[in-house]
Order: sequence, then structure tokens, then C-alpha cells
Amino acid sequence: MRTLSLPELYSNLRKHFGHQGWWPAQTRDEIIIGAILTQQTSWKNVEKAISNLREARLLGLESIRKAKLHSIELCIRPSGFYKQKAAHLKDFAEYLHSRYGGIDSMFSKDSGELRRELLSIKGIGKETADSIMLYVAGKHMFIIDAYTRRITSRIYGSDPKIPYDELRFDISASIPEDLDMYKDFHAQFVELGKRYCKTKPLCNDCPVKSYCQYNSKNG
Ligand code: SF4
Repeated sequence: MRTLSLPELYSNLRKHFGHQGWWPAQTRDEIIIGAILTQQTSWKNVEKAISNLREARLLGLESIRKAKLHSIELCIRPSGFYKQKAAHLKDFAEYLHSRYGGIDSMFSKDSGELRRELLSIKGIGKETADSIMLYVAGKHMFIIDAYTRRITSRIYGSDPKIPYDELRFDISASIPEDLDMYKDFHAQFVELGKRYCKTKPLCNDCPVKSYCQYNSKNG
């Protein structure tokens, strides 16, 4: 069995699924809100919460900052852990407003400084910070989500429990510094994970089955 390099894997997935045009949002505020809401839930639930926020005219960090906590909680209930997440959204909006007055001045910092600062804000974990860094700030930061971890461990036989930053570093070191590729590769992992590489994988129809160690052992 031939092993695909990561750029070859990306190219195969892109040929199969097409460019995904991620992140699925209309504004930078919406990306940040979605990245906070998507923790520990499916994107379908986030979509319901985002749609409620849009209807209530609360789909912006400034509106969230000014809104009553209870109004946000009501809108984002479908995303689960809604009390915690509503508080995190308000904390982030307040932090941005009081320290910077807006997104641009915060996100003009260099990658290392910005990541450290994002991670210091309550409710922002590594995956959320890196989603904001990549899709809002336009920094080369590969996102490691559950799909990425599962797919890379199955295709390459790597440790599924590899620490977040170790896998992020390994992937970044193996692909070109191309922002569009960083964004779209993450989206391709999500697509492959949703359609084929599920908890119980559908290997027979998978576009990269000929290059996958898991399939070669179990297929
Ligand atoms: S062949 Fe199976 S295990 Fe391998 S990536 Fe595809 S769905 Fe996942």
C-alpha cells in the first residue's frame, strides 16, 4: 500500500469533495461566535443557535456585549452547555471591547502572542483559539479537531491520543504555508469525517481507502 503525503491527501480529498469555502459564516463576528458555540456539540446544533441569534439581532459581538445574559442563553440553548457558553460569549465580547475596541487591533498581533492571549480568555480552548486564528485573523494555524485526529490516526496509523500541539506541529511541518490550503484542508477533514470516516467508518465508499492503514488491516 502506498502512503500518501499530507499534500497528496489534501489533493485527493479536494478532487473528491471540491473546495469547501470555509468557514461557513457571513462575518468575522459570526465565525468567532460559531467557534465558541461548537465546543462539545455538533455543527447542526450550532446552526440552530446561530439562526436564533440572527433572528434576535444578536449575531454580533457588540450586540452580545450589550444584551442581557438571559436573552443570549435563550437563543443558544440548542448548542448545549448554553449557560456556560453564553457567559463565554459575553466575556469574549467584553474583553475585545474594553481592551481593543474591535477585532482589527487585537488580531494584528503576531501569531504566538495572539494565540497566548486568546488561550488566556475564559472559555477559549486550543481548537477554538486556532479556529479564530485561522479563519478570522488569517494566521497559519492548523486546527486539530476530533475528525482530524481520528482520520490521521486511521490513515497513517498514528497515536489517536497524540497531544494537540504535537499533531498540529506535525501537520504544519508537512504542508506548504498556504493559508487557503490550511483553511480548506481542515474543511476536507470535516467532510471526510462526516461522510465516511465516522465513528464506525464506511471504508468501502471512502475516496482515500487505497491509502489507509486502517482499511488495509480491517477491510
Ligand atoms: S478508509 Fe475508512 S478508516 Fe480510512 S479514512 Fe476512509 S473511512 Fe476512514
